Order: sequence, then structure tokens, then C-alpha cells
Amino acid sequence: MSNIIDGKAFAEGLRADIASRVGKLKAEHNLTPGLAVVLVGEDPASEVYVRNKARQTVEVGMASVEHKLDAQTPESDLLALIDTLNKDDAIHGILVQLPLPKHIDESKVLDSIHYEKDVDGFHLTNVGLLSTGGDGVVPCTPLGSIMMLKDRLGSLSGKNAVVVGRSNIVGKPMAALLLAESCTVTIAHSRTQNLDEVCRSADILVAAVGRPEMIPGDWIKPGAAVIDVGINRIERDGKKKLVGDVDFASAAPVAGAITPVPGGVGPMTIACLLHNTVQQACRQHKIEMPAA
Ligand code: NDP
Repeated sequence: MSNIIDGKAFAEGLRADIASRVGKLKAEHNLTPGLAVVLVGEDPASEVYVRNKARQTVEVGMASVEHKLDAQTPESDLLALIDTLNKDDAIHGILVQLPLPKHIDESKVLDSIHYEKDVDGFHLTNVGLLSTGGDGVVPCTPLGSIMMLKDRLGSLSGKNAVVVGRSNIVGKPMAALLLAESCTVTIAHSRTQNLDEVCRSADILVAAVGRPEMIPGDWIKPGAAVIDVGINRIERDGKKKLVGDVDFASAAPVAGAITPVPGGVGPMTIACLLHNTVQQACRQHKIEMPAA
């Protein structure tokens, strides 16, 4: 087996599972999960993400609703829209595309989404459920990362895991998931001393920093599993390129398993968003998630 973890293929498989579950929900429960995506402003990158999310939502048989609001939209209008979506029985997941314009309080908006319609896992109730071992919704990027790790390694119990990065959307939930799998977890960040040694202690290394190719191959324990969450746009030899936080060329020969960038963690993020929407639809209707 190649040591490259093919996130694109894994995400395709996950989407096929989701499509099968959605088919069963429709046939057996007359339930079509619906995802509403709200975009405020005209950030071109966000527009691409929103388009991809809507397309993939429809492809797995779910309903997709898009709300595009003007960049000047007052916070109160956005909160009113979320209130309407919270009460709409056809909508099971609400995603507000980040970043929001500066005049809008991001955390206030995220917390206004009912936690059972939160598909990002950013609502404080879901954050609390994750950190206390409860049954909530898990942020998409760490969820995709842990799925790929478990698929490749089987049990993660007892392994030394190092997560570089402590953001609320990647680093912290990733660490919580690894802890829930009984790893011994270290969270490293910009103030960590001897980061190279910390990384070398990892059986599982997750890089979520946002610094192009910061982690070289000689920071990696031979045979370790490396999940590279970073997405960095650089220019090399006059060409624009996407690279991760790990220097893939020197890391791939050392790692036992490694996600490339692009084609690793990235494709899993939207697939996990769809998974979370189905999970929330089942939760709202008190139905067990059907088998794929
Ligand atoms: P943040 O900027 O929120 O967090 C970065 C983290 O890296 C911080 O905790 C910071 O530490 C730490 N850090 C910064 N510099 C260093 C350093 N020199 N040594 C050690 N740690 C350092 O980023 P995100 O978590 O939002 O994203 C991280 C990366 O993942 C980005 O490249 C982003 O594009 C990518 N990403 C990819 C996704 C996907 O779908 N694949 C989804 C989300 C993000 P401190 O807290 O001390 O400042």
C-alpha cells in the first residue's frame, strides 16, 4: 500500500455512503436533509466554496438553499435570517460562510444558530459536547482528519499524537478527537520550545499552522502518520502553487502515511459537512443514522 493517503478518493467514498444514507432517509422516513448556506459579501474565494458546497449537497440527494447577502447587511438582518432558518423544518443544517464583514460579530452569529442545526461544530454547546465526550457535531476538517487516520491505522489508542496549531476550528478540536481515541496528546503552538523535538516524538503528527512547508522531513519520526491540514498559496519558479505546512518532498520518504496538499485533508472538509448535515437531520427527527 502506498504511504500517500488519498483524501480525494476517501472523500468520494464518504460522499457515496452519504448518498446511500440520504436515499434511505427519503425512502423510509420521507426525510430529505436540507442545508442552508449563508454568504455575506462578495469574497471570490468564499463564493467558490459556497458553490462547491451547494453542488455537492445536491449531488448526494440533499436539498440546498443559498442566501447571498450584501456586504453592508446589518448584523440584525443576518440574525433575523438565522432565526427564520432555525424555525424552518425543511432546513437541518445552517452554515454561515466565514469570514464575515468586520461590522458583524462572528461569535454572536455562530451562537445564534441552533446547536442542532450547527453543521460546523462551532456552536459553544457542540464545542462543550466534544470536550466532555458527548454526542455533538464535530468541526469538519478535524473530523475528516480523524476518519482518515482511523481508516489507515485502525486503533489509535496509546499513540503519541502531536498537533501543531491551537485554533478553535482545527487544532483544539483535533486534539480533543485524538484524546477521545486514547492518544497521548501534545498541542504545540507559536510559543512551543524545541518544536522539532516535540514533532519527532509523534507517532501521529497533525500540522495546522498556515506556514508553507514549515515542517521538514527530519522533524518526522520514521513511520509516523502525518496529516497536513495547511493550505498555503505560494509562487515558485514563476508558478502559483498550493503547499501544506509539511515539506512533502522530504517528509514523504520518512512518513509511514502522509496526506498530500492538495488532495489530502482539503477534499474531506465538504464531505464531512454533508455527513454532519445528515447527522443533524437524524438527530432532529430522532432517527438513528441509517447504515450506508
Ligand atoms: P490559525 O491561524 O487560526 O492558527 C494557526 C496556529 O498555528 C496557531 O495556533 C499558531 O500559534 C500556530 N503557529 C503559528 N506559527 C507557528 C510556528 N512558527 N510554530 C508553531 N506553531 C505556530 O489557523 P487555522 O487553524 O485556521 O488553519 C491552519 C491551516 O490550516 C491554514 O493553512 C489553513 O488554511 C488550513 N485550513 C485548512 C482547512 C482544510 O479544509 N484543509 C480548513 C481550515 C484550515 P498561536 O496560537 O501561538 O498563535
